[in-house]
Amino acid sequence: MAAPLGSTLRVVIVGAGMGGLATALALAKKGFEHIHVYETASNLGFVGAGIQVAPNLSRVLQNLGVWEYMMGDAVEMKEASIRVSATDEELANVKLTHVAERYGQPHCVAHRSALANALYEGCKAAAPRITFHFCTTVVGVDFDIHGVRVKERDEEGEGHWVDADVVFGADGVKSIVRKYMLARHGEDDDVKDTGQAAYRIMLRRDQLAHDPELLALVESNTTFRWIGAKRHIIAYPISANTIFNISTAQPDVNFAAEPTASWTTRADKRAMLKVYADFCPLVVRMLELVPEGEVCEWKLRVHHPLTTWVEGNVALLGDACHPTLPHLNQGAAQAIEDGAVLGVVMSRLTNKAGVHTGLLVYERLRKARTEHLVEEAAASGRALHLTDPAAQAARDEAFRQVKHGGPNPDRAVDRAVQDLVYGHDCVKDAEERFEEYYAEAKGRE
Ligand SMILES: Cc1cc2nc3c(=O)[nH]c(=O)nc-3n(C[C@H](O)[C@H](O)[C@H](O)COP(=O)(O)OP(=O)(O)OC[C@H]3O[C@@H](n4cnc5c(N)ncnc54)[C@H](O)[C@@H]3O)c2cc1C
Repeated sequence: MAAPLGSTLRVVIVGAGMGGLATALALAKKGFEHIHVYETASNLGFVGAGIQVAPNLSRVLQNLGVWEYMMGDAVEMKEASIRVSATDEELANVKLTHVAERYGQPHCVAHRSALANALYEGCKAAAPRITFHFCTTVVGVDFDIHGVRVKERDEEGEGHWVDADVVFGADGVKSIVRKYMLARHGEDDDVKDTGQAAYRIMLRRDQLAHDPELLALVESNTTFRWIGAKRHIIAYPISANTIFNISTAQPDVNFAAEPTASWTTRADKRAMLKVYADFCPLVVRMLELVPEGEVCEWKLRVHHPLTTWVEGNVALLGDACHPTLPHLNQGAAQAIEDGAVLGVVMSRLTNKAGVHTGLLVYERLRKARTEHLVEEAAASGRALHLTDPAAQAARDEAFRQVKHGGPNPDRAVDRAVQDLVYGHDCVKDAEERFEEYYAEAKGRE
């Protein structure tokens, strides 16, 4: 059934990242006809990197009808291997073959652009409901009119105001919508520096073909995690085993030395090799194969939990309100879950006067879950990067006990965390709780 407000509600989405695309698609699928997405970049321009597509994410993609667009790229992961960085000793081998049966979808990995393109294909198929405004930056938010408006500025112009009935800030960790919202509450926009940075690298199968040990990695169905003091590397094959994707985490030196620089930059290969020089020969050989100029470095930032994600008819989603360290592989997944839940909530509203209450329902459905996962990701990073030898030994023993049912210090592959993360059907949850939460929120107004 089409959403009661579908033909009249003017929707503005700031940002065409994973969360913005998912929100646009989820709303269009529910029958919203006036969705405008503003994006600073000239196109989707997603960096070359892999992404883990856990069952909670692929479930949403199926629900949105776009999983089929990326199935060809996805590789099912059958095991996770956690290894000592210096020796390559395997501390734990966690089978993932139970995932499909237990959670209804396998655990996959894919190219980030395959995921973004799948969402974009879905959006294009929903035309003319969704209009993309690329090369257009939102530079202001006005909460004080009936409804809301954003100030857009394209490449040439000074900018002008665009009226809307609801605005979604899906503009990532550097969110300008969050900045305006916090300023209105008299709060500082306190993006926290984690002191960590990440290299993201991809090697083609033919670049590994001469080395049987490295070739075996790209031909496997395994996520490899090499852990060492203050650093780790995670790597897995993507794009139907034609690319080996490598992502690292290490203390940030380069961005710290140049605080005004962008949070993503081309990195120096020699500097990267130096950071990982004491890792095992297999890893060093792998990193040496990276072509000069193809190392990308990201600064890893988070934000303190926000008091609220909603002001009037404006709501935040994704990294704008719950930036999550990559150690749990859930940042994009949670941004996309947010979008799917917004689709359910907005489709149940029967008049424009109820939009603000609907956004409070969305916040209630999503805030506790995402903030818990932000904490889990940070805790996993702390455990993986331990420096004290006694603490490291205790952690490594815990890894060895995983096969006997012990908790896994790598929270991404801990069974209890998987139950919480993978077992959650966000769409079903929103459908089941909407009435109760709406009545409660209305009662508080
Ligand atoms: C090293 C690394 C590895 C990761 N691995 C995984 C993984 O395996 N699995 C996973 O689920 N997640 C992973 N993540 C996290 C994931 O990338 C993010 O959580 C996700 O991209 C957040 O999506 P988003 O849409 O909220 O924000 P973004 O992807 O940051 O998108 C925001 C968009 O808004 C645009 N924008 C910003 N400001 C404006 C403005 N004022 N006007 C108009 N447009 C604007 C930006 O150009 C951008 O396109 C990883 C992150 C890192 C750094």
